[in-house]
Amino acid sequence: MAVPKKKTTRSKKGHRRSHHHAKTMAFHKCSNCGELTMPHRVCPSCGYYNKKQVVDKAEI
Ligand SMILES: [Zn+2]
Repeated sequence: MAVPKKKTTRSKKGHRRSHHHAKTMAFHKCSNCGELTMPHRVCPSCGYYNKKQVVDKAEI
């Protein structure tokens, strides 16, 4: 079995894990209702995409 030659120090571990944080989510405002939505997706509150109604919310 392969065994590490040296103990990994707290400092080394910390430096390696400095990239493990979660990224902030990307948001954009809906052109119709102004709600914060994820980009390139239909607005979940009004059903608009690219200033056009693509999903009829009244049907659901
Ligand atoms: Zn909307």
